[in-house]
Amino acid sequence: MGSLRGVTKLVAASHNAGKVREIEDLLRPHRITVISAAELGLDEPEETAATFTGNAELKARAAAAVSGMPALADDSGLCVAGLDGQPGVYSARWAGPEKDFRKAMAVLEDRIQNTEDRRAHFVCALSLCWPDGQCETFLGEAHGLLVFPPRGSKGFGYDPIFLPDGHDMTFGEMDPVAKHAISHRAVAFKKLIDACFAD
Ligand code: IMP
Repeated sequence: MGSLRGVTKLVAASHNAGKVREIEDLLRPHRITVISAAELGLDEPEETAATFTGNAELKARAAAAVSGMPALADDSGLCVAGLDGQPGVYSARWAGPEKDFRKAMAVLEDRIQNTEDRRAHFVCALSLCWPDGQCETFLGEAHGLLVFPPRGSKGFGYDPIFLPDGHDMTFGEMDPVAKHAISHRAVAFKKLIDACFAD
């Protein structure tokens, strides 16, 4: 299902300018014009699901139903092994309404003090939904270790404390192009492109 061949317009079901830009970059070579949820005046649905897939689907499904166009949404977060996968779907919410990730990283450091296990992984769920309600979701993960104190100022969110496996720079220290080559989002995007533009 869900071929994007012949599709010329798609809604990026996100109010996050960075995510919309990534979706535009991904679809530009395929000559698809991306329209943001903000441009269409769409509401941002509350992320009420318990999983990344559930939240990505509810955002994409709502945008597709209202706009009558296929819609793409991303939901992502950081899962820490020693904290049973927290903050997970609550990754953004740990930073509070003021989006203070220094605070969120300090809370994380405090909570893992008594555990030896520093493994963590980012997850990205990318959902493509159609106006008739059909959805397909592609998952990507990036595995690594948590490091403290935070290092680097190039990324966003939890990037400064995430050291990807096989690398000696955190996502916050890496050039964005290097991060985007190995990130959870890159893995999910590649799966979507392979599935939706397959011959
Ligand atoms: P969402 O808008 O609900 O998907 O929130 C995702 C949250 O997960 C972001 O606010 C970040 O806290 C975190 N996150 C997701 N992807 C990344 C990443 O690539 N680097 C750093 N933090 C990320």
